[in-house]
Formats: sequence, C-alpha cells, structure tokens
Amino acid sequence: MTLLPTSTAGSLPKPSWLAQPETLWSPWKLDDDILAEGKRDALRLALADQQHAGIDIVSDGEQSRQHFVTTFIEHLEGVDFERRETVRIRDRYDASVPTVVGPVARKAPVFVQDAAFVRAHTDRPVKWALPGPMTMIDTLYDAHYGSREELAWEFAGILNQEAKELAAAGVDIVQFDEPAFNVFFDDVNDWGIAALERAAEGLTCETAVHVCYGYGIKANTDWKASLGSEWRQYERIFPRIRESSIDIVSLECHHSHVPMDLIELIRDKKVMVGAIDVASTTVETPDEVADTLRRALQFVDAENLYPSTNCGMAPLPRDVARGKLAALSAGAAIVRSELAG
Ligand SMILES: [Zn+2]
Repeated sequence: MTLLPTSTAGSLPKPSWLAQPETLWSPWKLDDDILAEGKRDALRLALADQQHAGIDIVSDGEQSRQHFVTTFIEHLEGVDFERRETVRIRDRYDASVPTVVGPVARKAPVFVQDAAFVRAHTDRPVKWALPGPMTMIDTLYDAHYGSREELAWEFAGILNQEAKELAAAGVDIVQFDEPAFNVFFDDVNDWGIAALERAAEGLTCETAVHVCYGYGIKANTDWKASLGSEWRQYERIFPRIRESSIDIVSLECHHSHVPMDLIELIRDKKVMVGAIDVASTTVETPDEVADTLRRALQFVDAENLYPSTNCGMAPLPRDVARGKLAALSAGAAIVRSELAG
C-alpha cells in the first residue's frame, strides 16, 4: 500500500434520483426491485467518484443505507419499529426511536451482498463501516434487557457475525462507528471498548473504530459550540483504546478544537486523521489538508498516518463532497512527496 493512503470516514451524498439530497434519514425515491437496482447503480457511482478523486481505500459511501445505525437495526429481530419512544441521543437531542421488545438476533446478513458487489467492482482496498455496539444502544429504547451493557454485548455478538461475513466477502477493513464514545466516558472504559473488541473478535481483516463529533447537523454544531476552546474528549478514552485489539483509530482533527497532541495517546495505532471538515460546504485547499497532515505527523509515524475526513459526508451537496475528496487526495500527495524528498 502507498504511504498516506486516503479514505473517507464512510458516507457520501446519494444521487438525487435515489433519495432527497442534503437530508439525514431521507426516504428512498424508488421501490422494490427498482430500488435494489438504484442502490447498486449508486454504489457504482460512489466508487467511480472515489477512484476518480484518487482515494486509495474505497467504501460503499453508505449508498444502500438510509442511516448508519438505523438501517442495520432494521434487519434485526427483537426490535419493534412501530413501537417508538422518545429518547435523548448522545445526551444531546431528542429523537423518536424503535423499541427493543425481545431477544435481539440477526435474521440474515445485512450488508454482505452489497460488500460482495463493491468488491467485484474495484481492485482497491475496501473499508466497510458498521455501527458500534454502544452507539446502537444509544439509538434505541430498551424494554427487554434493562441493562445497557447487556444489550451492547448482544449487539457485539451480532456485529461479529456480520463483520466476519464482510471479511469473507473481501472487505479489507471493518470499521465500527462509535460517536457515543465521545460522550459516555465511564461506560466506554467500563464495558464499551470490551464490547467493541467482542464485535471485532477473530476477524482476519483489519479493524477500525471511528470516534467523531458527528455530522454537520444543527444538534451537533450547537453541542460543539458548548465544548469550549479545547476539545479533550479523546483524552478520556484513548488510553484504553490504545490497549485494545483494534488496529486503526479514525478521528476528527480538521477545523476542530481537538488538540493534535492527543494523538500521542494512541501511539503505535494506525490513525485515520480527519483532514476534511464535513460541517462546512467550503472545499479545503490541498495546502490546508497538507497542513493538518503535517501537524499530525508530529504525533504519528508516517507509515501509520491515513488521511481521511472528520466524519461522513452524506448531508453535503454532491459537488462539494467530490471537491473535498479531490482536496484530500491532493493534500496527501503534497505531504507524500515531501516525505519522499
Ligand atoms: Zn463520524
């Protein structure tokens, strides 16, 4: 693999013929067989956009899912989507969510067919994102288990089944998205990282955890505005993540108030450094990307630095997302040539 391989945190905008643009939880515009075909065409386009921009580790851009957590849960037994309760998500905003009414189980593979399709359409390494156990329980109302830890442990087992089948389908990196890790520090250290390791247990591919400050939606930008001038959340969880079996840590760095030296706390891990701001429609210049990567290089060895985006780009206009992919690629190329020179 090339030095400084680029990737995205996960989602990309969907085509407007498939779903309403610039919207989270956007309903599909197609039905049944036509929807299935539309999702596959969108996967092809997402791959083409990434490859055209020179992204080294490609993803599905989450084109076949409505939402990074909900779509996975929809495929599970034990969750009633008709019975909804309002809960506080990540201690930040209220949302109407489905209810866990019985033992949770995976009826069938969720994304494995999509992953095989992506694998068949690219020669590049493929990264696949799944929700992490703690973020899953935070997006549900539990009327069955009565214990966040126990439900997370059940989800970890289910995620492990799915992750193993994704790896068998040719996925090179399985990434677990855990934005909840930035909020519930005590639970993260008590059982959150243990549940994450259970989800990744026995995987033959590489594993990653993505811990961010969220999409560029209002609830998140309001929360970020309340965090002060230095965001030190990672400091609470990185020491335990460093001891974990997870190979790669994906984090937010660009235009955020995360002190870059916190990366030192995960020394020896591979680090996907967010060098693209997903909460702004302004496309970064390659020099801005390069500057963020250079600052990260003070705390991570070059062979462990993976330039990436702060978070998913689903809510952005498509041309903006394409511009940001190209800027990421060009910025990484600048630093790569500096390192070679
Ligand atoms: Zn994120």
